[in-house]
Amino acid sequence: MQIRSIKAYRVLQPFVSGTYAMSKGREAAAFDSVIVAMTSDSGVTGWGEMAPLGSFYSAAFAAGVRAGVVEITPHLIGEDPRALTRIGRLMDTVFKGHPYIKPALDMACCDLVARAAEVPMVTMLGGRTSETAELYEVVTHGTPEAMIANAAKSIAGGCKRLQIKVGGDVPGDVERVSAVAASVPKGTVLFCDANAGWTVYQARQFVDATRAFDYTLEQPCATIDDCFSIRRTLDKPMVLDESVTSLQEMLEIHQKGAADGLTLKISRLGGVSRTRQLRDLAVDLGFMVTVEDTGGAEIDTAAMAHLSLSTPPENRLHAIAFHTWVTVRTAANAPPVTASHMGIPDGPGLGIDVRPDLLGMPFLDLSA
Ligand SMILES: [Mg+2]
Repeated sequence: MQIRSIKAYRVLQPFVSGTYAMSKGREAAAFDSVIVAMTSDSGVTGWGEMAPLGSFYSAAFAAGVRAGVVEITPHLIGEDPRALTRIGRLMDTVFKGHPYIKPALDMACCDLVARAAEVPMVTMLGGRTSETAELYEVVTHGTPEAMIANAAKSIAGGCKRLQIKVGGDVPGDVERVSAVAASVPKGTVLFCDANAGWTVYQARQFVDATRAFDYTLEQPCATIDDCFSIRRTLDKPMVLDESVTSLQEMLEIHQKGAADGLTLKISRLGGVSRTRQLRDLAVDLGFMVTVEDTGGAEIDTAAMAHLSLSTPPENRLHAIAFHTWVTVRTAANAPPVTASHMGIPDGPGLGIDVRPDLLGMPFLDLSA
């Protein structure tokens, strides 16, 4: 089997709820997504997607993804898409670093291979471990009133897990989080995600002022050492997200005992293949795991769902349904979601039926 052609599309995906806000004025109004269609000589097409969250969230930006895909794609024509590790090494050889330009291509390879083998991607990622994964929703940064209203909307919809954005001024964060925590039903699972926004001093102040209620602390500070300093005296679970960009960092976190759980993001790690490797190792090391990404619609969410549902339930934290965030559709179906859980669509590969007619003209169309 050989890769015969690759097309790439840019799809702007405005948010249903307007602006997504994190601390310190970091905002986005849409995902700026790159979608890749990879077709084999046998006529099977696999799909991949990568969408950064603005240019502020991770070391990635949408124009960079597009430029990178254009540069790297000619090297893949003629390669065997089933040789996923070889393709990963080839991409790293011809284009050093920049892991965020590779995930859509790797995801398309994984989808193509699973479709050609007529199995769902979850099977190739280790096998399905449960029917659905629990979903969480994000309470973005805002006034206490706005955040309470935001949380109430999620709860009214049936969601039982909330990630509250913190990481700004500590007294304000304490006020906002305390207000949200007091407003939600007993048993609601809360995460406080600072997105690496605090100094150690600030994180310690926040933790000290919020001892009264239960939550999991997510990525309080920027470095592993600073987060570890917080965790040493923390009486709550802690997960790291932004700190996990490679195997080396994951091993450092394990060695130092710097976290109880990890958030693995497909695009930050360079693709589905690499994320699967780290996910399996994270489970073996005893971490709790969330597999997600920085953004996207049906294609990217399906990949997240297949990775989540091949993670053992006892090690799985939760998942997120990004396709419900955006106003545009890219496929005729999507991962099935209830208010609190997400499954995977039936069918081979990602299981979704992408609609090329909804994607506009490709900005790249390369054939053998
Ligand atoms: Mg996070």
